Amino acid sequence: MSELRQNPLSGQWVVYAPLRKKRPYDFHASERETAGLPERDTSCPFCPGNERMLPDIILEKPDGDGVSWMTRVVPNKYAAFESSCLEMNSENGPYAITPGYGYHEVIIESPIHNEDIPRMAPERVAAIVETYYKRYVEILADRKIMEVFIFRNHGKSAGTSLVHPHSQLIATPVVPAGIETKKKRAREYFRECKHCLFCDILRFERSSGNRILFENGSFVAFIPYAAEVPFELWIFPKAHQSDFRLISDTQKGELATMLKSVLGVLTQRLGDPDYNLLLSTFTRADRDDRSLHWHIVVRPRTTIKAGFEIGSGMAINPSFPEEDCRILKEGP
Ligand SMILES: [Zn+2]
Ligand SMILES: [Zn+2]
Repeated sequence: MSELRQNPLSGQWVVYAPLRKKRPYDFHASERETAGLPERDTSCPFCPGNERMLPDIILEKPDGDGVSWMTRVVPNKYAAFESSCLEMNSENGPYAITPGYGYHEVIIESPIHNEDIPRMAPERVAAIVETYYKRYVEILADRKIMEVFIFRNHGKSAGTSLVHPHSQLIATPVVPAGIETKKKRAREYFRECKHCLFCDILRFERSSGNRILFENGSFVAFIPYAAEVPFELWIFPKAHQSDFRLISDTQKGELATMLKSVLGVLTQRLGDPDYNLLLSTFTRADRDDRSLHWHIVVRPRTTIKAGFEIGSGMAINPSFPEEDCRILKEGP
């Protein structure tokens, strides 16, 4: 029997239609065999020794040995946003226009071509989190920037063309509608209930337990109640924090171990599916905003949006979150 559930953050309804079930774990990682890849690739711009292929190096986190590096940040060669753009808002009849002012960077997560997060040492993943943080805070100093997105596309169907482990950062001069909706809904909830919606979700999930996948000192990973795609995962900091810039050093370390666990279980249970990971924060939130709470969303690419989904904005998910959680814990 079908069931509709509402995502409290977006207000969007999700249709659960188990009859449509092509078993959700019957998908294959797109011809990616990280294990079969070399440690270095002479044609990869992100591998050490190929720096001539990079436009520039914005930031480099050195390794303890003083010779090599752990992470690097470079400009995206095919940038969607550029800080050299002039600022100028205008209107044209019913249309608003603004130049693509902003930042678009690539965070190279390791010098090793074939080492993805689940196989990295925890301190190397911690270096990635630290690099996210450094760039995030630095870009915040630009008051023309309204939102900063840090994301990781894994696999061809998730939109990546290079296998070398990397994530990206895009900083925009406008607040995208999806973020605006989340903010609006969280603020309305706070006005009505006097609690943070995200903290309430966390409290409820921890007390019911059947969608919780991992928990450590600072973070909880769970499948959301109204997951839009099979095996969607949310990672919430336990402490109430509106903006990623408020993350502490302890939290950074625990976020690194949480990322290793979450991405590791996808590899282990589902055979390394393509996915998108997004750090969802509220870039210009006040330090003491009690209604907004940053978090991370991971969406495996297991389904394709068709006419109904595109037209209505409403997803049809063939599997229930509780069952997905069980599969990730115990195996199919
Ligand atoms: Zn490489
Ligand atoms: Zn909260």
